Amino acid sequence: MHLFDKCRAFTRHNEVKAEGLYPYFLPVSGSTDTEVVINGKKKIMIGSNNYLGLTHHPHVVESAKRATDRYGSGCTGSRFLNGNLDLHLELEERLARFIGTEAALVFSTGYQTNLGVISTLVGRQDTVYLDKLNHACIVDGARLSFGTVQRFNHNDLDALEAMLRSQESGGAMVIVDGVFSMEGEIADVPRLVALREEFDFALALDDAHSIGVLGHTGAGTAEHFGLTHKVDLTIGTFSKSFASIGGFVAGPRTVIDYLQHHARSLIFSASMPPSAVATVLAAMDVMEAEPERRDRLWAITKRMIEGFHDMGFETGKTETPIVPVMIGPMEEAFLMWKELFERGIYTNAVLPPAVPEGSCRLRTSYIATHTDDQLDYVLEQFAEVGKKLALV
Ligand code: PMP
Repeated sequence: MHLFDKCRAFTRHNEVKAEGLYPYFLPVSGSTDTEVVINGKKKIMIGSNNYLGLTHHPHVVESAKRATDRYGSGCTGSRFLNGNLDLHLELEERLARFIGTEAALVFSTGYQTNLGVISTLVGRQDTVYLDKLNHACIVDGARLSFGTVQRFNHNDLDALEAMLRSQESGGAMVIVDGVFSMEGEIADVPRLVALREEFDFALALDDAHSIGVLGHTGAGTAEHFGLTHKVDLTIGTFSKSFASIGGFVAGPRTVIDYLQHHARSLIFSASMPPSAVATVLAAMDVMEAEPERRDRLWAITKRMIEGFHDMGFETGKTETPIVPVMIGPMEEAFLMWKELFERGIYTNAVLPPAVPEGSCRLRTSYIATHTDDQLDYVLEQFAEVGKKLALV
């Protein structure tokens, strides 16, 4: 059997394309914060992670341009060697202050951050515990480590407790999404912190979807629960509220120093480009100066969750701007996606393995700068399409 046989046999994507139902890899040819142009037509974007709407903020865009003028377009090397800018260090100091930790370390993506943090810290004798709905890069980081990987059913912290009780030796890390990316559900951090007191593991939160959104300053899930100093490591991305690309981990100085000198995904990969770093710094300026963006985001979230419920859709246990509209079978999810797309609304069709079998959904997510008119239109169209397809 040839290695490529599986590739030749993979035809499902072409079949779906032939039916005109393929929702992936669509080319965006222009955008504002809340609209994109695809194949020459404008769509209201309710599928981004641009929670605060900062991707097109004048201060953010201007800062990125200035950084390109000063430092050039890329760093052409790892931070370990030639690719370390004073801007990376400034960002790390600022992030540590923002999260409320001693130190922080910036990676080139959130994905690489999880790979680096988990695989570096969890050694042969150690165990890492994962929620089954954790993001793929947490799973991949755990796979890359030499330790034992234990997975518990989503939010089943009794099962986690039993696993921790039966661990005989070695250190332990428990890592969960602060806000689950396909559910919008907030992790039970108070219970995790109580378990941490008893079992003395390192507690890490992947706050990709919480930074900028949760907590009174936007510092994430730990701040939301008033438990900042009880969480050992906060992992974040710059590809969502921070309107850029990159990732970071914040925690105790000794751990950050160790990661800086051992994390392979940091050392053997080029650093965040200057414009991307400057974007994050400017995004932090706006987050501080305009807290009303977060208030608006929460008002929109409440409105959309209620709106979907009123028309009879299920949205799971979301409490955040990630609002999954549950559909179930794949065919129906594709049909619903297509109808909405043709009516000028961009959503994300999410299928297994990103979500459990039979729980296909349209993942919708909101931006502080969505207008009331845009949201009225979205709700109106969901109601019409839902009825047309007999989903509500
Ligand atoms: N963690 C979570 C929970 C995510 O949702 C994502 C991105 N979808 C990442 C990590 C990876 O972040 P990045 O896009 O910066 O690689």
